[in-house]
Amino acid sequence: MVDVKEWSLTGLDRCDSCGAQAYVHVKGIAGELMFCGHHFNEADGEKLQAFAFEIIDERERLIENKSQGDDY
Ligand SMILES: [Zn+2]
Repeated sequence: MVDVKEWSLTGLDRCDSCGAQAYVHVKGIAGELMFCGHHFNEADGEKLQAFAFEIIDERERLIENKSQGDDY
């Protein structure tokens, strides 16, 4: 039996900035934001911390996808 890790983000979740697959889900008081790995790195960390009460970071999936030959 293969141990499959459960992810809350799916291929249907898209980055708000560029439409690429989202790997970071930021839940804030005024709404939610989706980021790809690239745009999460570019985002203003301080603003994000002020806005967010929960940040779901699933960027380790990027490594998984690369090993599958998926284009990021
Ligand atoms: Zn993006």
